[in-house]
Amino acid sequence: MKMSRKALALGAALCFFAGYSPADESAVNPQVVKVMNEVSEDRIKAIIEKLVSFGTRNTMSNAGDAARGVGAARQWIFDQFKSYSPRLEVRFDKFRVKKQGQRIFKDVDLYDVIAVLPGKTMPETEVWISGHYDSLNLGTRPAGGAAPGPGGDAAAGGGAAAAPQLTPADYEKNAELPAPGACDDGSGIAAVMELARVMSQYDFDKTIVFAAFAGEEQGLVGSQLEAEKAHKENTVIEAVLNNDIIGTEVSGTGRTGNASVNVYSDETMDSPSQELSRYVREIGERYIPSMKVNTVFMGDRLGRGGDHTPFQWEGYAAVRFSTPNEIYANQHHATDTLENMSVPYTARVARMNAVVAASLALAPKAPLVFRAAGQGGGRNGAGAAAGGTNAGGTPGAAGRGADGAAAPAGGGRRPTPLITRGRSQYDAQLQWRPAGPDSSIKGYVVVVRPTTAPYWEQQIYVGKVTEYLMKDVSIDDLKFGIKAIGMNGGESLVTPYLYPPRVKAPIETVQ
Ligand SMILES: [Zn+2]
Repeated sequence: MKMSRKALALGAALCFFAGYSPADESAVNPQVVKVMNEVSEDRIKAIIEKLVSFGTRNTMSNAGDAARGVGAARQWIFDQFKSYSPRLEVRFDKFRVKKQGQRIFKDVDLYDVIAVLPGKTMPETEVWISGHYDSLNLGTRPAGGAAPGPGGDAAAGGGAAAAPQLTPADYEKNAELPAPGACDDGSGIAAVMELARVMSQYDFDKTIVFAAFAGEEQGLVGSQLEAEKAHKENTVIEAVLNNDIIGTEVSGTGRTGNASVNVYSDETMDSPSQELSRYVREIGERYIPSMKVNTVFMGDRLGRGGDHTPFQWEGYAAVRFSTPNEIYANQHHATDTLENMSVPYTARVARMNAVVAASLALAPKAPLVFRAAGQGGGRNGAGAAAGGTNAGGTPGAAGRGADGAAAPAGGGRRPTPLITRGRSQYDAQLQWRPAGPDSSIKGYVVVVRPTTAPYWEQQIYVGKVTEYLMKDVSIDDLKFGIKAIGMNGGESLVTPYLYPPRVKAPIETVQ
């Protein structure tokens, strides 16, 4: 039978789309959906109930009691992690912290509880999901504790709060007060623990780390020590998803909303943390279309702090999930109870974490956009060869994502990304290279947006190539990036093409 011309044309179209179909991106992975669906509201509730039952989880409380206080709580979290799967490698990271400031009124042993689910094909690359298990009761203080809160939920960034300065004696007196911390941050820890249970039943390519930090309320102490340790050990952390105060959907003013979550990153355009927050939005809303991700390009709520920040200090991509509807009056108070929060909301944010972490852990590493070492000959005479770069692709600004830091060889100029105007001088010519095993990559997507747009507006699947020419597209007024698509359809983080800022050079003048 002869095929009609129409059928032939259709056939040709199908052939074309077999290689470049939209399904090559924006794919939904069945394993990610399974993980999302297994997150249990009932279990999250039970975890928060148990956390509250310790009376207080104040880092400075009596750690020797088997049923009450910070020692009992951390041991329970450790044992729970252990019980989820023999594949979880569970440990305490113990730090002896010296007496300092008001809040650490004596030397204290601080324990972060860490559970590691080793990756199958890229175990050296880690995705972290975190929260803080310690709680705080600041005792009597002026009602309302005007925003931005009584010293912040960690006073590290502090200073904005007008709350009266408490003395070390006050903190000592308050250390054993009831501090249920159901929302701050029982909600975050419940998400971390529930995801450890669910995700440890599955295989992922990258390593997933579930972290319960201590000492957040003393000034991000547990997370800072953990981030410094990771940096010192050259740990490659692709993303930190921190969860703090993800348990209320009605604010102190009565404003409501359970269909969105704030994701804080930082204020530097195209920083690794901002790219991560774009990823959270794109992947999160793809799997959970009923939930909006508010990417807030700020470090945190004004004048307040959280455990993602110390990871940013070490050059890692890190974001904070938090509700847009906080109740300040309950924070750091005996009224931060299960009754005053919303477990369904916590479960929604936990699922958002699940799809993002699972997607990242099943995706290729973000492509590299600098010349490989030894490849020599930069353009514009910038002869320095980059020794690789971080996942975010930012030379110098952040060197901890993957494959070591980018540093100009021999003290030359800073390396420049592989983006040029092409032979014509009027095109956009992009080059890149894979950061991980090439066999795991199906192809690449070039992303483009105006400098004033928050999100990538154009996404062009270009197939399995390592360069792409966009005719008559100016590289002088647009932002460009590249991401890798895995054989399973998984998407990597975007590596933006960032040009190093021009550095001021001294000019000699003659008298
Ligand atoms: Zn908190």
